Amino acid sequence: MAAIDFESVPAVGRDTERAPVGTVVMKFGGTSVGDTEKLKAVAQRLVAAREAGNRVVAVLSAMGHTTDELIDLAHRISPSPDPRELDMLISVGERISCALAAMAIKDLGHEAISLTGSQAGIVTDTVHGKAKIVEVRAKRIHSALDHGTIVLVAGFQGVSTELEVTTLGRGGSDTTAVALAAGIGADACEIYTDVEGVFTADPRIVPAARKLAAVTYDEMLEMAASGAKVLMLRSVELARNHNVKLHVRSTFSTEEGTWVTEEDERMLEKAMISGVTHTLEETVYRVEGVPAARLFAALAEASVNVDTIVQTSSEIVFSAPDADHEDAARVLDGIGAQWSGRYDLGKVSVVGAGMKSHPGIAAKTFLVLSELGIEPDVVSTSPIKIACHIPRGDVERAVQALHEAFELDTVALERGQ
Ligand code: ADP
Ligand code: ASP
Ligand code: MG
Repeated sequence: MAAIDFESVPAVGRDTERAPVGTVVMKFGGTSVGDTEKLKAVAQRLVAAREAGNRVVAVLSAMGHTTDELIDLAHRISPSPDPRELDMLISVGERISCALAAMAIKDLGHEAISLTGSQAGIVTDTVHGKAKIVEVRAKRIHSALDHGTIVLVAGFQGVSTELEVTTLGRGGSDTTAVALAAGIGADACEIYTDVEGVFTADPRIVPAARKLAAVTYDEMLEMAASGAKVLMLRSVELARNHNVKLHVRSTFSTEEGTWVTEEDERMLEKAMISGVTHTLEETVYRVEGVPAARLFAALAEASVNVDTIVQTSSEIVFSAPDADHEDAARVLDGIGAQWSGRYDLGKVSVVGAGMKSHPGIAAKTFLVLSELGIEPDVVSTSPIKIACHIPRGDVERAVQALHEAFELDTVALERGQ
């Protein structure tokens, strides 16, 4: 019965007082736990942190492409899988990783316990597939840590206020890690991944991209929102709101990675642009015949993550992730809007806190795009970002050209901590 699930995470609220110095949350992504050898290596790394005297909480993702495979499996059964059952299914991947890692740690002579999100006290709202964490009830984690046990928490999931299993959206293990770090008052939140940190552009597209030593929360928010999937957007929001310092680093080396922290003077002086980001997974909608207030209220009600909004006298243009397309279409039809969607656009963004005090970044961005013969369809800005929706097929070369034009292959490493 669901009630048992809830009793295992008693409502003790936040419990940050008891954490001594040396509590660490270490999150490992899917590639980092991709097979049993890698899981054993992760187990060793956790044991080393424990042996160095830390209280260790690990958050693990599902192994390799497990989540994709589970989603695919669901779609082979049903064209539109029931959201509750889909969450029941896809939350399993991270549980597998945690149980296996706990076994490996025990074989190394240490105590370990794997916990589901629910057992770990991660309470969420009731939105299946992209639930938001509303509370962390950390009592069970603290008592395990008090006994010297390494605690492995299944990422990407929680239990809703209606006692259902929920998942947090793609990349959600990052959010689990930050929420736990805030909830237990950890001293460090380390995000271990398959690259060495946050780069000036996706290193898969720009081989010359450089690792940034540090980025501000605001820059990282813009980068994550505009496609740098190395950190889930929501995890950066939580880190900023709870002042959790993040260290993004490689699972496969001991090198320092990238610190995500408060802005500091030296960071601003060194570089005006911190990165060029992109996404290929956004739809741009053009809407007529409904007032903006009604439109965006209805989209919010359906949990559609609206990004860019541009309103002219005759139409409203907005973008949202491809993954939200079904919900967006249902809302638009439901409120009787005349609308069309463009599915052939991607977005390239130039992000940097130094932009605030350096005019001319927009001019240079447009010049670079026009030299490539690319005409942006929609342009939007914030104080530290310029984003252009352009044809999907042009995104890669636009990212490469902008990266080069802003000389990010040469200046980034100099940005101090
Ligand atoms: P994990 O499974 O560890 O959570 P993800 O695949 O979610 O890892 O995120 C890491 C990937 O993010 C990298 O392999 C890289 O291709 C991609 N990425 C995109 N933009 C950036 C960027 N600016 N810096 C670093 N990585 C980036
Ligand atoms: N396994 C989930 C995903 O693939 C969550 C994560 O890895 O952060 O999205
Ligand atoms: Mg990820």
